[in-house]
Amino acid sequence: MKKTKKPIVWLTSYWKAKGLEKTKQYSIASKQPKDFTLEELSIFMPVAGGRILMTNREEFKEDWDRLIKTRARDIVEWVESIKKDVALCCWCKSATEHKLNRCHRALVAYLLEDLRPDLDIRCDIENPAWPKPKG
Ligand SMILES: [Zn+2]
Repeated sequence: MKKTKKPIVWLTSYWKAKGLEKTKQYSIASKQPKDFTLEELSIFMPVAGGRILMTNREEFKEDWDRLIKTRARDIVEWVESIKKDVALCCWCKSATEHKLNRCHRALVAYLLEDLRPDLDIRCDIENPAWPKPKG
């Protein structure tokens, strides 16, 4: 019997993703660092009406939830299409590199876990500022 491996979804920084050579990489930030030309995944960009939602804002989570609702159909469609390993990248370095926990990668990870429990989701933001939604 053939063993099927779960597709891995890495949520990491542009720089760390460089080590994942055979994995398709996408940018989920509003812009990319110099010298990076990843395919952009606008459904996960924290940009609403041309305005960047800053993660250090107290209301970020509310803004994000509102934004995600407007993109729900496109998000579901894309997430359901994941068949191979992918990496979703933004600027924030992981908690082990920085003491950072306000990165929207964590929120994207919650969405993915909810929509595709069959995926192997590996987000490198530890103790995210926003608790995991229940149920
Ligand atoms: Zn980030």
